[in-house]
Amino acid sequence: KHASKIKLEGFNVGESRKRDKSDRATREQVLDPRTRMILYQLLNRDIISEINGVISTGKEANVYHAVVLPDDALPAHRAVKVYKTAILAFKDRSRYVNGDYRFNKGGYNKGNGRSIVQVWAEKEFRNLKRIHSIGIPCPEPLYLRQNVLVMGFVGDKKGHAAPRLRDVTFSALGPEEEEQKYKDLYVQLLTYMRIMYHSCRLVHGDLSEYNVLYHEDKLIMIDVSQSVEHDHPRSLEFLRVDIKNVSDFFRSHNVEVLSERNIFKFITGE
Ligand code: ATP
Ligand code: MN
Repeated sequence: KHASKIKLEGFNVGESRKRDKSDRATREQVLDPRTRMILYQLLNRDIISEINGVISTGKEANVYHAVVLPDDALPAHRAVKVYKTAILAFKDRSRYVNGDYRFNKGGYNKGNGRSIVQVWAEKEFRNLKRIHSIGIPCPEPLYLRQNVLVMGFVGDKKGHAAPRLRDVTFSALGPEEEEQKYKDLYVQLLTYMRIMYHSCRLVHGDLSEYNVLYHEDKLIMIDVSQSVEHDHPRSLEFLRVDIKNVSDFFRSHNVEVLSERNIFKFITGE
């Protein structure tokens, strides 16, 4: 009984260094008692073996680095996204969920005990599954429990997370090679957007250089909690914004981008 209490206070089996980190996380107010209970269950069930530092603290979610040490396999890195349970963090998000038939059946009001935050986490989990199963590079969705999502870690063997496209530098390349690199990545991203539209029937909805990681010469789609079905009443409006963000970014890296109209046709056309 006492031992489990120690575990509950920290992420881990009472290592003080790690407990400091969890204290910090608790202060950041993501880890309300219910969330800590879920993390504790994940630790006990060997879905993860320890939670280390914070990869990212955001308005709506924090992402933690975790490690799993299976009995019968090599250790592996994990990313754990914890959606903040404070309802305020999600107040701008209803326009994405309204109009998506997948989430309107049960609803998400207080009455049925399913909070908007849980709907949000579930949305990301399901969207990731779809995107991952079609073969677009994205974190592998592994486990969902309420507001806690465990996914594959995108980064190196030492546990350093991959940079966002925004933060990539090709310092080893000359200016011409660098330009070519951005051109290639531009084509890569447009292709993923097209596949995502046609095969996953999804529009990302918050696509930009901030929600794409760069790893092993590939772009990795992340942060798909707000992605909508392409028959969502506002999906084409969201797609236009995605296209604009992508165009702006690559133009700023000297790529001769296509007209936004043509990109739109490329993504949605047969
Ligand atoms: P907020 O909008 O509140 O800032 P968020 O919803 O944007 O949070 P994400 O974009 O999904 O959350 O993730 C935040 C950051 O965490 C990403 O920019 C990325 O750096 C890192 N990250 C997310 N998922 C992974 C992963 N699977 N592997 C490695 N790093 C990740
Ligand atoms: Mn993000």
